[in-house]
Amino acid sequence: MGASSKKKGQQRKAAKKALSAAATAGSGSGVNSGDGSNLKVVGGNSNHSKIVAKVRRGNNYATKRLNSGVEEGFSYEDSGVLSVVLEFLNRCEDETFEGVMNNVGGDLKSPSLWVNIIKSASFVEPSCRLQIVENIGPLARCMCDDVKRLFFKSNKHWVESVRLFVHLVGNVMMESKLNNFWEKIVDTLLQYEGLLSSIVQWSFLGEEYRPDIIKELKYEGLADDCINIISISRSILNLLVSDETGLFQAEESRIRLLKTLGTTPIINKSYDPSCTVSYTAGLMRRLKTAADQRDNILQILQCLISEADCVDKVVIFELIYLGKKCTSNDYVTALDVAALFSRCMDPQDTDEPSATRTAFAIRVGLIEMCLGFIKQFVEHKCFGDNNGCFPPMYTAVERILKNVSKVSLHKKPARAIRSKKDTIESKLLYPTTQRFYLNKRRELENKDISNNIKRARDLLDMVRSILDISGRFCCRCNKSLSKTEVMECNGCHRMAYCSKSCQKEDWLNGHKLACCCSYTEEVAGQFQGRVMPSTEPDNERAAAKMKELEKNMNMAQQKLFLDHSDTILSQAKALDLPLHDCVVEFDLCKCPPIIKVEDYRKGFTGEERKGFEETRSKENITCIYHSHIINGESDLCMQRLFPLEWLSKVTTVYTFHLSSMKKI
Ligand SMILES: [Zn+2]
Ligand SMILES: [Zn+2]
Repeated sequence: MGASSKKKGQQRKAAKKALSAAATAGSGSGVNSGDGSNLKVVGGNSNHSKIVAKVRRGNNYATKRLNSGVEEGFSYEDSGVLSVVLEFLNRCEDETFEGVMNNVGGDLKSPSLWVNIIKSASFVEPSCRLQIVENIGPLARCMCDDVKRLFFKSNKHWVESVRLFVHLVGNVMMESKLNNFWEKIVDTLLQYEGLLSSIVQWSFLGEEYRPDIIKELKYEGLADDCINIISISRSILNLLVSDETGLFQAEESRIRLLKTLGTTPIINKSYDPSCTVSYTAGLMRRLKTAADQRDNILQILQCLISEADCVDKVVIFELIYLGKKCTSNDYVTALDVAALFSRCMDPQDTDEPSATRTAFAIRVGLIEMCLGFIKQFVEHKCFGDNNGCFPPMYTAVERILKNVSKVSLHKKPARAIRSKKDTIESKLLYPTTQRFYLNKRRELENKDISNNIKRARDLLDMVRSILDISGRFCCRCNKSLSKTEVMECNGCHRMAYCSKSCQKEDWLNGHKLACCCSYTEEVAGQFQGRVMPSTEPDNERAAAKMKELEKNMNMAQQKLFLDHSDTILSQAKALDLPLHDCVVEFDLCKCPPIIKVEDYRKGFTGEERKGFEETRSKENITCIYHSHIINGESDLCMQRLFPLEWLSKVTTVYTFHLSSMKKI
């Protein structure tokens, strides 16, 4: 801007004047306040009147002189120059510049000189800012249409003027922020359709996105204007998002503004209708290259994501892409990515993260990103503990995995996890990970690292548990099934089998009862494979969601039971209870799940206990699976009954599992 100290002084005086004028006249329109020290002479200076008359006739010399600064005591507003120029600019949509000049008999070279005058006026005379923003509708419309690029029906004039226009907008916003009129000014400006989008888009102006504009600017010898346009637009956006003025303290209007900004595409739709990159995603992209602006970009992203939930597929993709690119030197970036990601999944910190977003993130590599962080940073001093510098990476990754786990049995995330199972499993291979830890331990005989290793192992256990729980298994024989192998019970669509024979066997061994009936106390000892006591979802969508969850849970229950048979047996032994008197509780809200064996008399009371005692078979062990939250329901549980002999045979089954895993 290059404002001299003299100009600044003048500006301060002008500001003071504007304020007192506003206080007395309530209009702020530059009325003489009667202050004796006022430098301005209103309408009384004949020299000034001559200048105005020349500008009104389109005189090039006089207009140009006003562009290169004004003598002390001259006011754009009080002299009337401002009104003259604004009147000219109001003709920019319908007339050509030549037409206007012919009309007034002038020799002005370019209408950009007028834009420059209001730009200068907006800087040195705060009192006229409101008048300017209220009277630049046609100018704003012309400038914001950066595809047609017509100003006085001319492309050339648009190119000459666009930087000055951005500068003008920047001036009125940034220079007024401590001023009483700021709110009115910003409100008025933002009402111009397309202005906000243009500011977002101009902050990304460059060869990559808008080669057409760059070419025009270069052709007119104005290549440097591009840098100016970008930096002023970014400053305006910073100001609007950071809201240091508190203008948008009213929650809804701030969120509305952030939402509008965050979802604006970074390329004008008229130029590239296919652009799907929003401002938020664009900032993610910029994060990759602009290391020096990192903190500032992150701050904006946090506002857009946590306050206004501006998250779309591209945002998630860019974030994971960035995370996956992190090397062991990028601890801070990785940590920021992890923190931002948690906010994307669950911006309001609720109990139920977005299943759709989580599913998409898993498909584009979320879990691999987490595994990458564990591998890259396991040696970092802040991985397992906050050693005074950063929050630990462990907690950031843990938070993501916990969120994944919360929705891992829901339809979309479960499918996404299954589709990634092989890729993730190959990264989790026992021999490899074991060697990995052994080597780390040998290499670093440093005691601080042992905690990191423990933490890393916990995280890997979480990943394994997520994979296990989202597996597809036959509900009768526990065979792992591919998508095409799954056969469902035709009655309830809640049970999956490998074959007709498994289905038949399961039907005869208890499914018959639960398939089409809901839970009652009278059948408490035989009811299984459905949510109990039945919580009826209140709409079709919720019912479908629940059914999918029940199916996914049913498929994982037996595997969990068999995989933890050692724990079950030893806990039952410690309680000194026969197995059929035990209730095995699986808390699936924890990752990995927590298993607790209890006396059934503790779990069932009253009529329910009576029903349980009367109807149960002493050949079975009762398992209760407490599920992840769904449809806002807080206590969901399902009962499954498994033959006792399965548990005793278990040791062999279990070894089989382990050995097959070792064989991979
Ligand atoms: Zn089967
Ligand atoms: Zn059924």
